[in-house]
Amino acid sequence: MSAGFVGLGNMGLPMAARLVEAGFTVRGYDASAAARRRFPGAVDTLPEAAAQTVILMLPDSPAVRSVLVDEGLLDRLAAGSRVIDMSSSEPTETRALADQAATRGVELLDAPVSGGVAGARQVTLTIMAGGPEESVAACRPLLEAMGSDVMHVGPVAAGHALKALNNLLSATSLLVSSEALLAGRRFGLDPQVMVDTLNRSTGRSWSTQTKLPQFVLPRDWSSGFPMRLMVKDLQIALGLAEATGAPAPLGRTTLELWERACANLGEEADHTEIARWLEGLAGD
Ligand code: NAD
Repeated sequence: MSAGFVGLGNMGLPMAARLVEAGFTVRGYDASAAARRRFPGAVDTLPEAAAQTVILMLPDSPAVRSVLVDEGLLDRLAAGSRVIDMSSSEPTETRALADQAATRGVELLDAPVSGGVAGARQVTLTIMAGGPEESVAACRPLLEAMGSDVMHVGPVAAGHALKALNNLLSATSLLVSSEALLAGRRFGLDPQVMVDTLNRSTGRSWSTQTKLPQFVLPRDWSSGFPMRLMVKDLQIALGLAEATGAPAPLGRTTLELWERACANLGEEADHTEIARWLEGLAGD
Protein backbone atom coordinates (compact mmCIF):
# COMPACT_ATOMS: atom_id res chain seq x y z
CA MET A 1 0.00 0.00 0.00
CA SER A 2 1.20 3.52 -0.67
CA ALA A 3 0.43 6.94 0.78
CA GLY A 4 1.39 10.56 0.30
CA PHE A 5 2.66 12.38 3.40
CA VAL A 6 2.92 16.18 3.60
CA GLY A 7 4.78 17.76 6.52
CA LEU A 8 8.01 16.03 7.60
CA GLY A 9 8.70 18.07 10.74
CA ASN A 10 9.27 16.99 14.34
CA MET A 11 6.24 14.70 14.26
CA GLY A 12 5.78 13.96 10.56
CA LEU A 13 9.29 12.61 10.02
CA PRO A 14 9.11 9.82 12.65
CA MET A 15 5.47 9.05 11.74
CA ALA A 16 6.32 8.66 8.04
CA ALA A 17 9.33 6.53 9.00
CA ARG A 18 7.10 4.19 11.05
CA LEU A 19 4.79 3.80 8.02
CA VAL A 20 7.74 2.78 5.88
CA GLU A 21 8.82 0.27 8.54
CA ALA A 22 5.29 -1.16 8.53
CA GLY A 23 5.61 -1.83 4.80
CA PHE A 24 3.91 1.21 3.25
CA THR A 25 5.42 3.04 0.30
CA VAL A 26 5.47 6.69 1.40
CA ARG A 27 5.86 9.68 -0.90
CA GLY A 28 6.82 12.33 1.63
CA TYR A 29 6.90 16.05 0.89
CA ASP A 30 7.82 19.12 2.93
CA ALA A 31 8.21 22.74 1.84
CA SER A 32 11.60 22.72 3.57
CA ALA A 33 14.41 21.15 1.52
CA ALA A 34 16.26 20.35 4.76
CA ALA A 35 13.23 18.37 6.01
CA ARG A 36 12.99 16.52 2.67
CA ARG A 37 16.65 15.52 2.89
CA ARG A 38 15.98 13.81 6.24
CA PHE A 39 13.37 11.46 4.69
CA PRO A 40 14.63 8.79 2.28
CA GLY A 41 11.29 8.52 0.41
CA ALA A 42 10.95 12.26 -0.19
CA VAL A 43 9.60 13.73 -3.42
CA ASP A 44 10.65 17.18 -4.60
CA THR A 45 7.26 18.69 -5.40
CA LEU A 46 3.84 18.72 -3.77
CA PRO A 47 1.96 17.19 -6.77
CA GLU A 48 4.21 14.11 -6.52
CA ALA A 49 2.75 13.45 -3.04
CA ALA A 50 -0.72 12.98 -4.54
CA ALA A 51 -2.03 9.45 -3.84
CA GLN A 52 -5.19 7.53 -3.04
CA THR A 53 -4.54 8.39 0.62
CA VAL A 54 -2.63 11.51 1.64
CA ILE A 55 -1.66 12.24 5.24
CA LEU A 56 -1.06 15.83 6.37
CA MET A 57 1.10 16.66 9.42
CA LEU A 58 1.33 20.43 9.14
CA PRO A 59 1.57 23.17 11.78
CA ASP A 60 -2.00 24.48 11.65
CA SER A 61 -5.18 25.04 9.61
CA PRO A 62 -3.76 27.90 7.47
CA ALA A 63 -0.98 25.53 6.33
CA VAL A 64 -3.52 22.76 5.66
CA ARG A 65 -5.65 25.13 3.56
CA SER A 66 -2.57 26.36 1.75
CA VAL A 67 -1.51 22.82 0.78
CA LEU A 68 -4.97 21.59 -0.19
CA VAL A 69 -6.43 24.68 -1.86
CA ASP A 70 -3.90 27.45 -2.61
CA GLU A 71 -1.10 25.08 -3.68
CA GLY A 72 -3.63 22.84 -5.47
CA LEU A 73 -3.18 19.38 -3.92
CA LEU A 74 -6.95 18.86 -3.90
CA ASP A 75 -7.05 19.40 -7.67
CA ARG A 76 -4.48 16.62 -8.08
CA LEU A 77 -6.44 14.00 -6.16
CA ALA A 78 -8.69 11.54 -7.98
CA ALA A 79 -12.33 11.21 -6.95
CA GLY A 80 -12.52 8.56 -4.22
CA SER A 81 -9.21 9.63 -2.66
CA ARG A 82 -8.85 10.34 1.05
CA VAL A 83 -7.00 13.06 2.94
CA ILE A 84 -6.22 12.39 6.62
CA ASP A 85 -5.35 15.61 8.45
CA MET A 86 -3.28 14.50 11.45
CA SER A 87 -2.21 18.07 12.28
CA SER A 88 -3.80 19.76 15.31
CA SER A 89 -6.10 21.93 13.22
CA GLU A 90 -9.04 24.23 13.94
CA PRO A 91 -12.29 22.20 13.82
CA THR A 92 -14.62 24.65 12.04
CA GLU A 93 -11.99 25.13 9.34
CA THR A 94 -11.69 21.32 9.10
CA ARG A 95 -15.45 21.06 8.48
CA ALA A 96 -15.22 23.74 5.76
CA LEU A 97 -12.29 21.97 4.08
CA ALA A 98 -14.08 18.61 4.30
CA ASP A 99 -17.12 20.15 2.54
CA GLN A 100 -14.86 21.66 -0.13
CA ALA A 101 -13.07 18.32 -0.64
CA ALA A 102 -16.39 16.49 -0.88
CA THR A 103 -17.44 18.63 -3.87
CA ARG A 104 -14.48 17.04 -5.68
CA GLY A 105 -15.34 13.52 -4.48
CA VAL A 106 -12.44 13.54 -1.98
CA GLU A 107 -13.06 12.58 1.65
CA LEU A 108 -11.26 14.48 4.40
CA LEU A 109 -10.87 12.84 7.82
CA ASP A 110 -9.19 14.31 10.88
CA ALA A 111 -6.85 12.20 13.03
CA PRO A 112 -4.72 14.38 15.33
CA VAL A 113 -2.38 12.75 17.81
CA SER A 114 -1.30 12.91 21.43
CA GLY A 115 1.97 11.57 22.81
CA GLY A 116 4.63 13.90 21.41
CA VAL A 117 7.78 13.21 19.45
CA ALA A 118 8.68 10.28 21.72
CA GLY A 119 5.24 8.76 21.03
CA ALA A 120 5.72 9.22 17.28
CA ARG A 121 9.11 7.47 17.45
CA GLN A 122 7.89 4.61 19.64
CA VAL A 123 4.42 4.16 18.01
CA THR A 124 2.68 4.95 21.29
CA LEU A 125 0.58 7.86 19.98
CA THR A 126 -3.10 8.12 20.77
CA ILE A 127 -4.90 8.98 17.52
CA MET A 128 -8.28 10.79 17.70
CA ALA A 129 -10.05 10.04 14.45
CA GLY A 130 -13.06 11.99 13.17
CA GLY A 131 -15.20 10.85 10.23
CA PRO A 132 -17.68 8.18 9.20
CA GLU A 133 -17.21 4.84 10.97
CA GLU A 134 -16.48 2.86 7.80
CA SER A 135 -13.93 5.41 6.55
CA VAL A 136 -12.05 5.39 9.86
CA ALA A 137 -12.15 1.57 9.80
CA ALA A 138 -10.66 1.59 6.29
CA CYS A 139 -7.80 3.80 7.52
CA ARG A 140 -7.01 1.67 10.59
CA PRO A 141 -4.08 -0.29 9.10
CA LEU A 142 -2.39 3.00 8.24
CA LEU A 143 -3.22 4.68 11.56
CA GLU A 144 -2.24 1.64 13.64
CA ALA A 145 1.21 1.75 12.06
CA MET A 146 1.66 5.18 13.69
CA GLY A 147 -0.13 4.87 17.02
CA SER A 148 -1.03 2.38 19.73
CA ASP A 149 -4.56 3.68 20.43
CA VAL A 150 -6.75 4.62 17.48
CA MET A 151 -9.92 6.13 18.93
CA HIS A 152 -12.88 6.90 16.68
CA VAL A 153 -14.20 9.98 18.48
CA GLY A 154 -17.06 11.19 16.25
CA PRO A 155 -17.79 12.79 12.87
CA VAL A 156 -15.29 14.87 10.92
CA ALA A 157 -13.66 17.61 13.06
CA ALA A 158 -14.44 15.77 16.33
CA GLY A 159 -10.79 14.71 16.56
CA HIS A 160 -9.55 18.25 16.10
CA ALA A 161 -11.95 19.55 18.76
CA LEU A 162 -10.92 16.86 21.24
CA LYS A 163 -7.22 17.34 20.57
CA ALA A 164 -7.42 21.08 21.34
CA LEU A 165 -9.36 20.36 24.55
CA ASN A 166 -6.78 17.73 25.52
CA ASN A 167 -4.04 20.32 25.18
CA LEU A 168 -6.03 22.80 27.28
CA LEU A 169 -5.85 20.21 30.08
CA SER A 170 -2.23 19.39 29.36
CA ALA A 171 -1.11 23.06 29.31
CA THR A 172 -3.03 23.87 32.49
CA SER A 173 -1.62 20.87 34.34
CA LEU A 174 1.97 21.57 33.28
CA LEU A 175 1.66 25.17 34.43
CA VAL A 176 0.11 24.39 37.80
CA SER A 177 2.53 21.46 38.35
CA SER A 178 5.41 23.89 37.73
CA GLU A 179 3.86 26.34 40.21
CA ALA A 180 3.61 23.59 42.84
CA LEU A 181 7.22 22.54 42.21
CA LEU A 182 8.43 26.10 42.67
CA ALA A 183 6.46 26.71 45.86
CA GLY A 184 7.68 23.39 47.29
CA ARG A 185 11.29 24.18 46.44
CA ARG A 186 11.04 27.57 48.15
CA PHE A 187 9.63 25.86 51.23
CA GLY A 188 12.69 23.62 51.24
CA LEU A 189 11.31 20.43 49.67
CA ASP A 190 13.56 18.36 47.41
CA PRO A 191 12.06 18.61 43.87
CA GLN A 192 12.88 14.95 43.09
CA VAL A 193 11.19 13.81 46.30
CA MET A 194 8.20 15.98 45.40
CA VAL A 195 7.86 14.46 41.92
CA ASP A 196 8.34 10.88 43.18
CA THR A 197 5.69 11.42 45.85
CA LEU A 198 3.21 13.29 43.64
CA ASN A 199 3.43 10.43 41.15
CA ARG A 200 2.15 8.07 43.86
CA SER A 201 -0.55 10.55 44.90
CA THR A 202 -3.78 12.04 43.61
CA GLY A 203 -2.16 15.17 42.10
CA ARG A 204 -0.34 13.14 39.45
CA SER A 205 -0.83 13.71 35.74
CA TRP A 206 1.03 13.20 32.45
CA SER A 207 2.85 16.43 33.32
CA THR A 208 4.10 15.18 36.70
CA GLN A 209 4.78 11.65 35.42
CA THR A 210 6.53 12.53 32.19
CA LYS A 211 7.29 16.20 31.64
CA LEU A 212 8.62 17.14 35.09
CA PRO A 213 11.05 14.19 35.38
CA GLN A 214 12.15 14.16 31.72
CA PHE A 215 12.42 17.85 30.92
CA VAL A 216 11.88 20.19 33.88
CA LEU A 217 13.99 18.60 36.67
CA PRO A 218 17.04 17.99 34.41
CA ARG A 219 16.42 21.41 32.76
CA ASP A 220 16.58 19.69 29.38
CA TRP A 221 14.07 21.58 27.26
CA SER A 222 13.98 19.11 24.38
CA SER A 223 10.42 17.73 24.10
CA GLY A 224 10.19 18.89 20.46
CA PHE A 225 6.87 20.70 21.00
CA PRO A 226 7.40 24.47 20.77
CA MET A 227 5.49 27.24 22.56
CA ARG A 228 3.90 28.49 19.32
CA LEU A 229 2.07 25.19 18.77
CA MET A 230 0.81 24.99 22.36
CA VAL A 231 -0.49 28.57 22.19
CA LYS A 232 -2.19 27.75 18.86
CA ASP A 233 -3.91 24.73 20.46
CA LEU A 234 -5.05 26.81 23.44
CA GLN A 235 -6.46 29.46 21.12
CA ILE A 236 -8.43 26.75 19.30
CA ALA A 237 -9.75 25.31 22.60
CA LEU A 238 -10.80 28.72 23.91
CA GLY A 239 -12.36 29.59 20.54
CA LEU A 240 -14.39 26.41 20.82
CA ALA A 241 -15.52 27.28 24.37
CA GLU A 242 -16.50 30.77 23.23
CA ALA A 243 -18.35 29.54 20.14
CA THR A 244 -20.37 27.08 22.22
CA GLY A 245 -20.95 29.48 25.12
CA ALA A 246 -19.18 27.13 27.55
CA PRO A 247 -17.70 29.04 30.51
CA ALA A 248 -13.91 28.69 30.66
CA PRO A 249 -12.52 31.19 33.19
CA LEU A 250 -9.55 28.99 34.13
CA GLY A 251 -8.86 28.14 30.49
CA ARG A 252 -8.74 31.84 29.62
CA THR A 253 -6.18 32.44 32.36
CA THR A 254 -4.14 29.47 31.09
CA LEU A 255 -4.15 30.92 27.57
CA GLU A 256 -3.19 34.40 28.80
CA LEU A 257 -0.22 33.03 30.78
CA TRP A 258 1.01 30.85 27.89
CA GLU A 259 0.73 33.81 25.50
CA ARG A 260 2.85 35.90 27.88
CA ALA A 261 5.44 33.12 28.21
CA CYS A 262 5.57 32.69 24.44
CA ALA A 263 6.03 36.44 23.87
CA ASN A 264 8.77 36.47 26.48
CA LEU A 265 10.71 33.27 25.61
CA GLY A 266 10.05 33.26 21.86
CA GLU A 267 7.84 31.07 19.69
CA GLU A 268 10.45 28.36 19.21
CA ALA A 269 11.16 27.87 22.92
CA ASP A 270 10.19 24.38 24.04
CA HIS A 271 6.79 24.36 25.74
CA THR A 272 8.31 22.75 28.86
CA GLU A 273 10.22 26.03 29.37
CA ILE A 274 6.99 27.41 30.85
CA ALA A 275 8.55 26.16 34.15
CA ARG A 276 11.63 28.31 33.55
CA TRP A 277 9.48 31.32 32.65
CA LEU A 278 7.61 30.90 35.93
CA GLU A 279 10.90 31.00 37.86
CA GLY A 280 11.65 34.31 36.14
CA LEU A 281 8.32 35.70 37.38
CA ALA A 282 9.24 34.57 40.87
CA GLY A 283 12.67 36.22 40.58
CA ASP A 284 14.47 32.89 41.20
P1 NAD B 1 6.83 21.20 12.78
O1 NAD B 1 6.75 22.68 12.70
O2 NAD B 1 8.06 20.55 13.34
O3 NAD B 1 6.59 20.54 11.33
C1 NAD B 1 5.68 21.02 10.39
C2 NAD B 1 6.30 20.81 9.02
O4 NAD B 1 5.37 21.27 8.03
C3 NAD B 1 7.60 21.60 8.80
O5 NAD B 1 8.64 20.72 8.42
C4 NAD B 1 7.25 22.60 7.71
O6 NAD B 1 8.33 22.87 6.83
C5 NAD B 1 6.12 21.89 7.00
N1 NAD B 1 5.24 22.80 6.27
C6 NAD B 1 4.68 23.96 6.68
N2 NAD B 1 3.95 24.51 5.69
C7 NAD B 1 4.05 23.67 4.64
C8 NAD B 1 3.52 23.69 3.31
N3 NAD B 1 2.72 24.67 2.89
N4 NAD B 1 3.84 22.68 2.48
C9 NAD B 1 4.64 21.66 2.89
N5 NAD B 1 5.19 21.59 4.12
C10 NAD B 1 4.88 22.60 4.98
O7 NAD B 1 5.53 20.74 13.61
P2 NAD B 1 5.30 19.34 14.37
O8 NAD B 1 5.85 19.44 15.73
O9 NAD B 1 5.71 18.23 13.48
O10 NAD B 1 3.71 19.37 14.51
C11 NAD B 1 2.84 19.10 13.43
C12 NAD B 1 1.42 19.13 13.97
O11 NAD B 1 1.28 18.15 15.01
C13 NAD B 1 1.03 20.47 14.59
O12 NAD B 1 -0.31 20.76 14.32
C14 NAD B 1 1.23 20.23 16.09
O13 NAD B 1 0.43 21.08 16.88
C15 NAD B 1 0.86 18.77 16.21
N6 NAD B 1 1.48 18.04 17.31
C16 NAD B 1 2.80 18.23 17.62
C17 NAD B 1 3.35 17.50 18.67
C18 NAD B 1 4.82 17.67 19.07
O14 NAD B 1 5.20 17.16 20.13
N7 NAD B 1 5.65 18.35 18.28
C19 NAD B 1 2.58 16.59 19.38
C20 NAD B 1 1.26 16.38 19.00
C21 NAD B 1 0.72 17.12 17.96
